[in-house]
Amino acid sequence: MRAVQVTDIGHIEVREIPLPTPRAGEVLIDVLACGLCGTDRHIVRGEYPSALPRVLGHEFGGRVRWSPPESSWSPGDLVSVDPNISCVDCADCRAGRVALCPDRYALGVDTDGGLSEVVAVPESQLFRIADVDPLHLAFVEPLACCLRGMDLAEFHGGESVAIVGGGVMGQLVVQLVARAGASRITLITRQAAKRQLAERMGATDSYAPDDATVLERTFDVVFECAGTLDSVEQSLTLARRGGSVILLGIPPEGATLPVSPFTLVVDELRVQGSFLNPLTQERAAELVGEGVLDLTPLVSRVLTFDEVEQALLNEPAGGDIKYVVQPTRDEDPTS
Ligand SMILES: [Zn+2]
Ligand SMILES: [Zn+2]
Repeated sequence: MRAVQVTDIGHIEVREIPLPTPRAGEVLIDVLACGLCGTDRHIVRGEYPSALPRVLGHEFGGRVRWSPPESSWSPGDLVSVDPNISCVDCADCRAGRVALCPDRYALGVDTDGGLSEVVAVPESQLFRIADVDPLHLAFVEPLACCLRGMDLAEFHGGESVAIVGGGVMGQLVVQLVARAGASRITLITRQAAKRQLAERMGATDSYAPDDATVLERTFDVVFECAGTLDSVEQSLTLARRGGSVILLGIPPEGATLPVSPFTLVVDELRVQGSFLNPLTQERAAELVGEGVLDLTPLVSRVLTFDEVEQALLNEPAGGDIKYVVQPTRDEDPTS
């Protein structure tokens, strides 16, 4: 079968590799869609730890191709895959903090992932999903990360919300907070095309980060979805006194910012990190399966394996949100 492998830092190849041999408790999945994300670019550049060679891809789903006897999964089942595998037994896992498990590893990062025609996946990582456009399977994992942020924000309805960053996370959060009853949704990003898209997705208004109008306003909840130091710094200034800042973007490791502890205290600011998709993948699969989110406009390009190298070695083109790779086509589903 074919797969996209990072063979060395800066080197990506489409290779013919053996079909995976499932271990106990694993099923084989025909991958129908796998999203590319910033983490993949960081791995290719050697900026995110991963033992090479590695088949990338952690945002994927597909159809069960083979399941062991007495499995609860059958060939043909459409599934979303939670790529993050925790130990279940440590103190963090037992307390529900599975993203913080010290033994956590991820498909497509620490073991081979979804940029492959077939992947072996532990049954515990699978979530059934209703018949949807197969390309939408690539959005379940990023949506699950956004649902974690929504949980931490503790929405009650009626909040004013700023979202900093117009990539896939920002565009998904726009839709989630609209459904959660936000009174006003302001998206802040440099690219005009992403601002226009956000307004189609439900944002009330949108601004460039240096726009004087937005600099004068404050919000009940701010979601940081860009992961740059500038965007984090701006997010801290956008929360009202007593407001919350939810950090979803992953900033560069080791980078620091000057922060006024005085302001944090006297403004009672809540600054909350939100990491990965702990226990939210199932809800994300249900939400995508319901078809209530507008996901098709977020697919900027559908790629073949041969096009992945250029897509990962270069930054996305202006206005582009998500690149989705189609390892196999769903022409002859067994179900
Ligand atoms: Zn990702
Ligand atoms: Zn654990």
